[in-house]
This record gives sequence, C-alpha cells and structure tokens, in this order.
Amino acid sequence: MDRIQTYFSGGAIDRMSALRKDAQSLQRLLEQPSTYLLPVSQGEVLVRDGKPALLGFADISIATHQQIPTLEQLVYLGRISDLDLFAFNTRSTSSFSVPQDCKFLSGRELMGSVDNASASLLAYARGILNWHDTHMFCGHCGAPNCSTEGGFVMKCSACSQRSFPRLDPAIIVLVAHENRCLLGRQANWPEQRFSTIAGFAEPGENLEDAVRREVLEETNVRVGSCNYLASQPWPFPSALMVGFHAEGLSTDIKLNDAELIEAGWFSREDLRSSSIVLPPRQSIAFELIAAWHDQCSDIRLGELPASAEFNAPSA
Ligand SMILES: [Zn+2]
Repeated sequence: MDRIQTYFSGGAIDRMSALRKDAQSLQRLLEQPSTYLLPVSQGEVLVRDGKPALLGFADISIATHQQIPTLEQLVYLGRISDLDLFAFNTRSTSSFSVPQDCKFLSGRELMGSVDNASASLLAYARGILNWHDTHMFCGHCGAPNCSTEGGFVMKCSACSQRSFPRLDPAIIVLVAHENRCLLGRQANWPEQRFSTIAGFAEPGENLEDAVRREVLEETNVRVGSCNYLASQPWPFPSALMVGFHAEGLSTDIKLNDAELIEAGWFSREDLRSSSIVLPPRQSIAFELIAAWHDQCSDIRLGELPASAEFNAPSA
C-alpha cells in the first residue's frame, strides 16, 4: 500500500533544530531581510490568499504599532526556500492590527481552505504556541517560565526546571471483520455521521494496548491483530493520531461507555451510499476508511463526490 500523506503533515520546512541552541545565530537572523514572522493569535493563524501570511519586520512594525518582538517572544520554526521563519504570538504585544488581505483562521477553519503544505506549517506554528500559552508557569514550583532554545524549551525562572513541547498520543482504528468495518457515532454528531474508533493512549500501555482497550470500552468488540497504517498531527490542540487497521475477533456490539451513542458494522456498499456521512477528507479517519474500502473495490472512495461528508472534524 502506498504511504498515506495525511493533512497537517509533510510540509517542506527544514526545522534546523541545531540552530535552536545558538542564540547568537538566531539573533542575527532577526536582522536578515529573508526572515519572516508568522503571527498566531489565541490558536488562530494568519492567512492570506490561502497561504500562511508571512510578515517581514516592516509589516510587523506596522501591525504591532512599533512593538518589535524580541527573540524571547518568538519561536524559530526553521527554514523554507531560503526564508527563515519564526512564529509570533500576538499575545506578546498589546495591540495587533490585522494587515490588509489577511485574516486569522482557527484550526478547524484551516481544514480544506489551505493546501497540505500550508496546513502543516500552520499546525506547527499553532501547536508550539499553544504549548507556550499553556505552560507559562512551572509545573514543578509555579514560578513563571521563560522561553529559551528558539522557543522549544520552557525554563523555570526559579527552579530551572525545563519542559518541552508536548503531544498527546491517540490511537484511531478501523476495525474490520470479514467484509464489514466497525464505525461509531458520537452523541453530538448528525444522525448519519459515523467514524472510526479513537481515544488517547494512557500511561503504562503501548499503542496496540490502547487500540484493544478503546475498542472494547466503546463497543465491546474484541480486537486481534492490529497494524500501523499512518499518523496525523491533530492540532486540536496537540494530539498525534496514530492510525491502525485491526481485525475484529467478535461482532456483538455493546456500548460500554458514554463515548458513542451508536455503533455498527458497515459494508463497502454502505460506505458509498448516501445513508452514511463520512468524516472530512482531511482527517486520518477518512484515510483509514478509504484505505480499507479501496483494498477490495475498483472504486476509490476518495474519488467519489464529496457531498456525503459532514464538514466538521472530530478526533
Ligand atoms: Zn520551577
């Protein structure tokens, strides 16, 4: 099977991680005309014409009313096409005027409105600044944290405890039994909307354990073999979805917890019918469903009209 390139991943940026510890070089980058800032405001990223809105320092000076950010207020994202990019948290300035032709988009608004490479960069900037916003204080002693190493380390101003960008690993799985697959519906979804089973991994279990536990908890279906297929950064706010195909060992469904209001087994014909609303095409849930569907069909699920989609993502 071809490798699945999920939305929000696979951007072209070179993260230049060795530069993060070199504050002098990062400082020098701030004086280069090839350096641009990508503004992020409370989880919303600045977009212009369907692309990340990259602002030079002259633009930033106008937008911030002369409050030029310092290195400590920026996160070095890396280099792309000879441009050095920093994420700029507008929280660090008292005012920010949105430049003409630009607008801030939420993570969910990005889906489908920007291409994959742009989505990857915007999710990256949004994710790292979300971590900044939620780690302003030391989890150890409660004193304020300071951003260091290009924004990739938060260091406590009192006890020097260091913390690092966090991700929440979650599994997402298409369980199949013979020629049907297991999908569920959450209570707040429209009646025909179904998706794969998903949930966060917990301490003391590997991802395969998490697959078996989540499927059993949510549907009472026992899972045998499970195979990794693809993963997707899911910046709502910081999940990493790890996608599997798994074999169902039993078929009787019982909703053991309150996660799902409905679950069932669906054939490939069901997936193509108008009676089912599939997850958004930018989601790994759709990729997992389509990969299973396409294994035994001449029809490509992703090439069918997208009308049978519910245009709101979920984990
Ligand atoms: Zn501390």
